[in-house]
Amino acid sequence: SAKNESRGTYRFFERGMDSRLCARRQLEEDLRVAIREGQFEVHYQPLLDASTGTIRCCEALVRWRHPSRGLVAPADFIATAEDSGLIIPIGEWVLRQACQDAATWPADVRVAVNVSPAQFKRGDLIAMTVSALSAAGLEPTRLELEITEAVLLHDETWVLSALKQLTALGVRIVMDDFGTGYSSLNYLRRFPFNKIKIDRSFVADLVDTPDAFSIIQATILLSQKLGMEVTAEGVETPEQMQILTDEGCTQIQGYHVSRPVPAAGIAGLLDVYNFECRSRAQSAG
Ligand code: C2E
Ligand code: MG
Ligand code: MG
Ligand code: MG
Repeated sequence: SAKNESRGTYRFFERGMDSRLCARRQLEEDLRVAIREGQFEVHYQPLLDASTGTIRCCEALVRWRHPSRGLVAPADFIATAEDSGLIIPIGEWVLRQACQDAATWPADVRVAVNVSPAQFKRGDLIAMTVSALSAAGLEPTRLELEITEAVLLHDETWVLSALKQLTALGVRIVMDDFGTGYSSLNYLRRFPFNKIKIDRSFVADLVDTPDAFSIIQATILLSQKLGMEVTAEGVETPEQMQILTDEGCTQIQGYHVSRPVPAAGIAGLLDVYNFECRSRAQSAG
């Protein structure tokens, strides 16, 4: 019958269709539902200030609370969100949520938010940032935007002007995953970064690979010479932390300090961490 024929046709196309494309379409559709239904959450990972032992910044990391798959990591949906343009509404939601959460933290703790290249291309990143800050009542100086070198590959003139406007507002600009992209050194010269984050692949190889250690040393020196802060990402062991602190990293981020935690847990973590540090300082002094 016609019905069977069309089912057959559908099966034919289904089998013939690139299964990855099919999975991508499904993921896109699920992401649209997730945006509509508010299935995203922001978790926060603290950055330990090496000189004071306190937490002065937490990085916002998006998670997807999928109704059947559970908590989905960004690696499983950010690329599709970027390709489909859905990163625009997701990124805006994360920025607004992160500003609201940070407004409840002590005033000496900043929040860092990751920004995708597509968010820069859209052109209203600055207006959106201003709006998110004022809606939350958060000082611009308490916001850091983390960008990767991929952002800089697009329209350099526009990106440079956007970064300068954000800097003029008091927002801090951070180069994420440093060392993994192209022309890193040239970008450091041309863009007003406040901080460099050394990619965790270098940190992972730090102890066993002299080359990784040398690259980290050189990056720290470079950041000092350029007057930028430097964070090491993916610090998992006390040994890595010791070396990185000795070498002059200003901040340490990684499972050794804390895994990312849900928003509800961060205030308590900050309290315990920064309070214990104050107590240690008092009993020492
Ligand atoms: P990223 O910005 O470089 O964030 C650091 C990633 O390293 C996070 O993964 C964090 O959980 C993980 N990490 C932290 N410490 C350790 C450690 O000691 N060991 C290991 N193995 N990993 C560690 P996550 O949360 O899965 O995020 C992955 C990437 O997804 C982020 O890398 C960022 O590029 C992107 N991302 C996350 N949230 C957002 C967002 O809201 N917007 C955009 N555009 N991208 C985001
Ligand atoms: Mg980041
Ligand atoms: Mg990174
Ligand atoms: Mg990364």
